Amino acid sequence: MSGNEQQALADRISQAVDAARERILGLHRSYVQVRSVTGTEGPMGLRVAETFRARGLETETWAATAEEMQGYLEHVGEQPGYEGRWNVAGKQRGAGGGRSILLNAHIDTVPEGDHSLWSQPPFAANLVTGRIYGRGSCDMKGGLTTHLAALDALAACGLRLKGDVTVAATVGEEDGGIGALSTVLRGYRADAALVTEPTQLALVTACEGSLVFRLTITGRSAHAATRDEGVSALEKFIPIFQDLQHLEQERNATLRHPLYDVFANKVPINVGVVRAGNWASTVPEILEAEIRVGFLPGEELEPFKRLVAERIMKVAAQDPWLRAHPPVITYFGGQFIAAETPAHSPLAGAIRAAHRRVTGREAPVEAATYGADMRHFIVFGGMPCVMYGAGDIRVAHAPDEYLEFEELLTAVKVVALFLAEWCGVAE
Ligand SMILES: [Zn+2]
Repeated sequence: MSGNEQQALADRISQAVDAARERILGLHRSYVQVRSVTGTEGPMGLRVAETFRARGLETETWAATAEEMQGYLEHVGEQPGYEGRWNVAGKQRGAGGGRSILLNAHIDTVPEGDHSLWSQPPFAANLVTGRIYGRGSCDMKGGLTTHLAALDALAACGLRLKGDVTVAATVGEEDGGIGALSTVLRGYRADAALVTEPTQLALVTACEGSLVFRLTITGRSAHAATRDEGVSALEKFIPIFQDLQHLEQERNATLRHPLYDVFANKVPINVGVVRAGNWASTVPEILEAEIRVGFLPGEELEPFKRLVAERIMKVAAQDPWLRAHPPVITYFGGQFIAAETPAHSPLAGAIRAAHRRVTGREAPVEAATYGADMRHFIVFGGMPCVMYGAGDIRVAHAPDEYLEFEELLTAVKVVALFLAEWCGVAE
């Protein structure tokens, strides 16, 4: 396609999206109005399946199982339950000869919290001064709306794609991502995957890894009056804590990544929980700390785990008590592998080109400092995957979560144009 033809296509798609404003708003509101906190996604899954079937997508609905996740618990964490948590995949078959795409959005949300902290009811999806308020409006029911509205816009323009498009609406992202992983394990694959997380229309090509572990240090209790006869687990923890701070500084100083170097602390180590002791007059005999360490794309999970353990054991080796009573490290919760698709990959290039055509500007290329489902598609699905979508992640888990309606419409236009260019348009 020539530059002029591409611009004409972008204009045609933009007009179709603008003409469908009310319909897009209605679809988005109908998603936000169904509460779908992680673990209770069932009713939302059924609602989503209805909207898929109404568009003629070949629709499959399923729940991940404990058996399926057995070998992957390290990556998704223990689950509160599996039953009735419906994932939905809908496939639109292409005319043939084009590249395929897997579009993903998670349908679970964090809890809405105290309703009195909201200025709008969290499940009314009210449109106020251009913002659609509600839990999940931004993170990320707007992303799911984007996918379907983009397909609708292409249909309204009478454009048939060459490549297959699969939309996967998945559960459990906020708690390790069993839905996205299950999608991959069930064999859903494409030439690339796009996750429409709220990135404020930036292209996100990398997501950070994180490792969570519990550190247990044993001391010896004694009465405070004879405290020198005891061994304080808290005092034994302090040099380990200080060394973890040094490790964070060293890693920030030595690790290089073009997308992460802009962050003042690109690999944070956070000691989030410390529990020790049970009585003011007793020397604490046990300390438990829960610690989260971040790591960058390019770093592998297992060697990184060894690095952290070696650092802790090196400090312990310098202390006679800890040499005899070594600290114990236990991993728990979802371990988020770092993942990346090159910023100059064909996938990233196609998103950037579509963004440029629709908005007249370059999309910022960024990295995420959090883990997301994109890692499952890259690591276990072997697909290039990036994130691009409407909404600001900073309002996502707070009261008065909202999505700017105009930004949603822009995302729909960009994704529709991207689909036309990526999958190809049949004559
Ligand atoms: Zn999200």
